[in-house]
Amino acid sequence: MSSPLPVVAVIGSLNVDFITRTTRVPAAGETLIAQSFDIGFGGKGSNQAVACARLSRPKPSSSSRHPGETGRPSPSVDVRMVGAVGSDPFAEDFLAGLRQDGVNVDAVRRLEGQKTGIANIIVEEGSGENRIMVAANANYALKAETLLPVDADVAVFQLEIPLEVVLNNITEAKRKGLEVSPSILFRIRLSNSHRSQVILNPAPAVPLDAAVFKGLSHLIMNESEAAILSGMSDEEFGSADLDDIASNFLVRGVRNVIVTLGAKGVFYHTSPWYAIRKPGTTLAAARATVVDTTAAGDTFVGAYAVAVAKARALDDFDVDAAVAFANRAAARTVERKGARAAVPWLDEVDGVAE
Ligand code: ATP
Repeated sequence: MSSPLPVVAVIGSLNVDFITRTTRVPAAGETLIAQSFDIGFGGKGSNQAVACARLSRPKPSSSSRHPGETGRPSPSVDVRMVGAVGSDPFAEDFLAGLRQDGVNVDAVRRLEGQKTGIANIIVEEGSGENRIMVAANANYALKAETLLPVDADVAVFQLEIPLEVVLNNITEAKRKGLEVSPSILFRIRLSNSHRSQVILNPAPAVPLDAAVFKGLSHLIMNESEAAILSGMSDEEFGSADLDDIASNFLVRGVRNVIVTLGAKGVFYHTSPWYAIRKPGTTLAAARATVVDTTAAGDTFVGAYAVAVAKARALDDFDVDAAVAFANRAAARTVERKGARAAVPWLDEVDGVAE
């Protein structure tokens, strides 16, 4: 299906979150009565798809309930989720919720006899600490040959699905056309077929082969992910220079390296190879009254992906504007409780003070 809008395809996980709040975590063999229980629809893939969809248009009024209905604001981006759910009762509500947010779920497979991915989250209210146990279920039934839509302008990946699915798709996206050559002097178009820009959010992080970084348009990671991908302990990373960290990825062929720094904001470095000795940029976090930081990272990635998609071509892409927009959007998320529930719509971001 071809689209007049730029297409963002998010290939990743869909998890049902079971969130139990308790005053303290039960000891082995102990039973406790919880303070509260909620069910949410999350997973990094799904959260990032929702962030893309919401950040590509203003919030619809409560009276318009269906896509295309009069009064519903038009999106600037066509967001498609690629992934898998099971055949359990959660699946249909999950997909209905994504559709309601404006995400196209035609490429989400419903696997007969499988269960949808589950995240059991225990929040200890006193300490605020989370304990999370994920059963990947249908997310891990995705086969290596599951491919992104052919007309995707931007493909967004995390690592909550089998690594081989991610690596195959990144290779495929690069094969289809020019991603970016390390040198503008030698930029050539390899084929006439559709070219996707790739955004990799390597979460949860695992060490990755150097080939992944060659020709990668955008690498977005938090500090602990950047440490793992750099082969460093958290202590080593803490005393390392972010310019050196970023340069390591730039020389390996990444065009834009972004390290989110939580309440400290974001660091980014983007240069052709001959200019990587220039320092990167640190942008302070936008002001926010912090309630719950869950999904801040997913909102950042979704907002950034919308900015990439709107530019269409990498040469027209304004990385400063994209990072600033993502930083403002993520700051909105930390002001609200929950994961998906906290992701803002476009009109809720513009007013955030920088
Ligand atoms: P999470 O796992 O909670 O979704 P993450 O670890 O992937 O987040 P962070 O680096 O913690 O990612 O945060 C992502 C972005 O969210 C930051 O770069 C920043 O833009 C925004 N952010 C996080 N914490 C705050 C805060 N306290 N105030 C304002 N913005 C914040």
